[in-house]
Amino acid sequence: MILGIDIGGTTTKLGLVKDGVVLDRVRIATIGHTDEHRFADAIAEAARVLIAKQVGSRLDSVGIGAPNANQLTGIIEMAPNLPWKHDVPLATMLTERLGTRGVLGNDANAAALGEWRYGAGIGFTDLLVVTLGTGVGSGFIVHDRLVLGSAGNAGELGHTTLVMDGRPCTCGRAGCLEAYVSIRGMRQTYADLGGDAEVLKVDGVKPIAEAAMKGDQEAHFTFQWTAQWLAVGLANAVAITGPGRIVLFGGITQSGELLMAPLQTAFRKALLNIYQGRVDLVFSALPDDDAALLGAAALTTL
Ligand SMILES: [Zn+2]
Repeated sequence: MILGIDIGGTTTKLGLVKDGVVLDRVRIATIGHTDEHRFADAIAEAARVLIAKQVGSRLDSVGIGAPNANQLTGIIEMAPNLPWKHDVPLATMLTERLGTRGVLGNDANAAALGEWRYGAGIGFTDLLVVTLGTGVGSGFIVHDRLVLGSAGNAGELGHTTLVMDGRPCTCGRAGCLEAYVSIRGMRQTYADLGGDAEVLKVDGVKPIAEAAMKGDQEAHFTFQWTAQWLAVGLANAVAITGPGRIVLFGGITQSGELLMAPLQTAFRKALLNIYQGRVDLVFSALPDDDAALLGAAALTTL
């Protein structure tokens, strides 16, 4: 039995995983703790309650997915969306508290591993998983190994430059893929196209998807443009690692065919001819609530 932990900006989810199934789960707040030590205490306490309910089962390991987490060092490095603005060695902190091996990994890498071990990536030796949400995360599996890079921070497809001198990005540079195909990017595109201000009063991408379904032209073009930008970014990535499959994951994929239909067309068009017919593009099939927990658990299977 593995404990999977998914640390988000406001909520932290814990789940016990066995044979690719989440047996039980609980949520605690990420914010509101005095410091990271009290946060680790709260995680350990919630974990003990969960574990005690699984009579006769033993905890083998703990996998933790978090933003800005470095798998090589076990440290969360100054994550902008978490309450602590310094390095937090959470792998060691939880290993000490729970008495079993803790493995920390970047949340996008965890998502990639979850898809590879338990989801749409099963059986692929070479896989690319892209998370489309508030930001754009990615994890590359090459020859049955997750690519970490020399410093543990490889696989930042979201911050590859798509447009020279393009939109400002949260990373401080300009023209990154993330500035175009994230939730923020799509909302910017809709605004730039002169979209309805009423639609933008509601958070997220869902209101734009609903507007598109009702025949809103600017919303329709927002999906078309997003698909084209994403297609170019994905085709560029394919030319580097040659995955057999790309799995898309995260909030924006809930737009379904609104995104997928133009994306498939644009992707085929953008793809170098030697890759045609050798890579497919699918949405994640893992249940939304489980994907991050399964991914975190999968970090311990490396
Ligand atoms: Zn960037």
